[in-house]
Amino acid sequence: MRSLFIYTICIFCSVSPLKSIAQNVKRPNILVIFSDDHTNQSISAYGSKLMQTPNIDRIANQGALFTRTFVTNSLCAPSRAVLLTGKYSHVNGLMDNGPRRNFDGSQVQVQKLLSKANYQTAWIGKWHLVSLPVGFDYWKILPDQGNYFQPDFIEMSKDTVKHKGYVTNLISDFSLDWINKRDTSKPFFLVVGEKATHRNWMPAVEDLGAYDEQQFPMPENFFDTYEGRTAAHEQDMTVNKTMLIGDDLKINVNFDKPGMFGRLSADEKIAYKNYYAKIGMEYEKVKSDSIALIKWKYQRYLKDYLATAKSLDRNIGRILDYLEKSGLADNTVVMYASDQGFYMGEHGWFDKRFMYEESLKTPFVIKYPHHIKPGTVVKDLVVNIDFAPTFLDIAGVPVPVEIQGKSFLPLMTQPNKVIPWRSGMYYHYYEYPQPHKVPPHFGIRTLRYKLIRFYGPRNEWELFDLKKDPTEMHNLIHDQAQTNTIAVLKKQLVVLIKEYKDKDALEILKND
Ligand code: CA
Repeated sequence: MRSLFIYTICIFCSVSPLKSIAQNVKRPNILVIFSDDHTNQSISAYGSKLMQTPNIDRIANQGALFTRTFVTNSLCAPSRAVLLTGKYSHVNGLMDNGPRRNFDGSQVQVQKLLSKANYQTAWIGKWHLVSLPVGFDYWKILPDQGNYFQPDFIEMSKDTVKHKGYVTNLISDFSLDWINKRDTSKPFFLVVGEKATHRNWMPAVEDLGAYDEQQFPMPENFFDTYEGRTAAHEQDMTVNKTMLIGDDLKINVNFDKPGMFGRLSADEKIAYKNYYAKIGMEYEKVKSDSIALIKWKYQRYLKDYLATAKSLDRNIGRILDYLEKSGLADNTVVMYASDQGFYMGEHGWFDKRFMYEESLKTPFVIKYPHHIKPGTVVKDLVVNIDFAPTFLDIAGVPVPVEIQGKSFLPLMTQPNKVIPWRSGMYYHYYEYPQPHKVPPHFGIRTLRYKLIRFYGPRNEWELFDLKKDPTEMHNLIHDQAQTNTIAVLKKQLVVLIKEYKDKDALEILKND
């Protein structure tokens, strides 16, 4: 009787409500978990032996693992702007984490396009763009980098409210709460913006010391002398010299001083003081021996970083569990990516920025039940400009021509089909000199080669053969045997620069 009633109403409608409801049922929810400085070398799905990440692996096992996902500009704020716009930094206007970080929210963004297509949209957690979110139905964001303990969140009312707890747990709490209270008549698009695993790597109290029993092998190129690579030689991001014994490794710090440590609750402070007092005794034993100290710093860096990642992975598990228990999992795309990769001691470094593999890459796994076959591996060159158009493609929304990325939906849903795809990706980094003295550079990465042009304080090229030299130790730019390869790559680079309309890069090459 009820269906007959609906039918009777609908025959008078110009657009059938039944049809539009049916479309909504088919269109999946899109849940994006977007972390910070979390890198492939620390994820077991990518073969890491440093720690187990069972919940990130769970997404990969139920869906697809992308092995060659790259960012356009390896920094926090620029990567978030790329996620929102599907455009390079020189087009979306957000170039660095410094003075050029004020995002123009009036431009076309993925959430606005999804919203027009009847998606309910939200961003919860780290945002890191100076201007407030525009075009989301709901947002609740950390101011700037945010804090690990008792963090402030900016509400839509623009009030800043301090919350009790650990940031990764709180971001999950707020995200699940929003999903639970959302308008269930519409599909949703939610970005869970994680603070973890950003410097200064403060683990949840329950994870303090989680990896203390492990000794981590140092990367073979930890003691890199940077021969033939001037920019790498001049950076300021080494575990040895740049990493701070106090703020980073938490030795001999005043846990009562205002700021990130002062935010610990009374109980948390006791746990932190006790734990790092013990670690401080280790430091006393090694501090006078420079080599022993470097090796100890490396171990401590990894122990704090991985313990911070442990909470991140556990919280991803909470989100996945919730989707399963609530019956949403079957119709929800879940993706996990970071804003870029990070150095786990390779070249002696922490941090990111360089176009070298560890920071050019980002982890990226995604599941889309009934569309991606579990255990799919995609090796194509995917770039973070492709995320936004892929979300639109999944939602059945046409991708505006101004978006520079390309939907990779066919790569993961039809992995055995030959699909025309890019043979090289373009990169451009700007922030200099502070905070880590990495000169600006742009370049191209193909399946086999990487050609980089540094500029500003350095006018130099670098060429790497990733097949023969995967850790990028040998700059082949002056190798006569590479003349043809260099000429071909330079041509390909110019094609990409023109395609992406990077006038500044083109100008630099004109003067070469
Ligand atoms: Ca970052």
